[in-house]
Amino acid sequence: MRQQLQLETIPVWDGVKEGSECFICSLMKKAEEDGVRYYLSSAVMTPEVRVEMNRHGFCPHHAALLAESGKPQSLALAMDTYYDENKKLFAPLMEKVRSAGNARKAEKAANELFEAAHGREKGCLICSRMEERLLRYCYTVASLWESDSDFRKALMESKGFCLHHTEALVKTAKEALSGDNLAAFIKDMISLLQTNLDRVQHDDWWMTQKYKSENKDKPWNGAEDAQKRAVYKLIGEGRVLDPVGK
Ligand SMILES: [Zn+2]
Ligand SMILES: [Zn+2]
Repeated sequence: MRQQLQLETIPVWDGVKEGSECFICSLMKKAEEDGVRYYLSSAVMTPEVRVEMNRHGFCPHHAALLAESGKPQSLALAMDTYYDENKKLFAPLMEKVRSAGNARKAEKAANELFEAAHGREKGCLICSRMEERLLRYCYTVASLWESDSDFRKALMESKGFCLHHTEALVKTAKEALSGDNLAAFIKDMISLLQTNLDRVQHDDWWMTQKYKSENKDKPWNGAEDAQKRAVYKLIGEGRVLDPVGK
């Protein structure tokens, strides 16, 4: 059964035209900003959202983004009740440490507390919201690749995607495509990746050459930021780290 996901035609078409190393990275950075903004907005005042926040919370990366976003009032409110939830879980474990009769028992009880704390860090509401969008973007790329020959041409002439999002595209493609079309899409995505990894490596190599004195006056040919692009072409940006329920 093919899942019917919502098409995101406009952002995906705009993305393919933007000329970046991976437009899914750009869209996902935006999704991350939107996620952070949502959990610092008036949504925090609604009981359902607060219950979710108290139960799941955020991964360390997104918790840090919330902390650095300059919205003290909403975050203070959210953290106060999140601390209350923690207290229910932590207080009996702390009591166990306090009443431990020897070092071995104290260490064991303390470890139980830290395990509980690790459990609280697992599952992230911002990652979950980002994941929903990532699926729709990947689904849209595969759908447009099949239905719109102008899109396919523009995509295959673009700088492609990072390695990280190429995996997401290939894994999501079966929601939109099947049979020969699925095979052709996967092959296209891998060939786009290969071509563009080589291009980025060439830019990176040219940067290494530019540091030689004999090349000092030769043109950069766009390789001024090649070392950074070489990193992000592999790892991507705006990654979904730990959605709830994974
Ligand atoms: Zn990417
Ligand atoms: Zn997260």
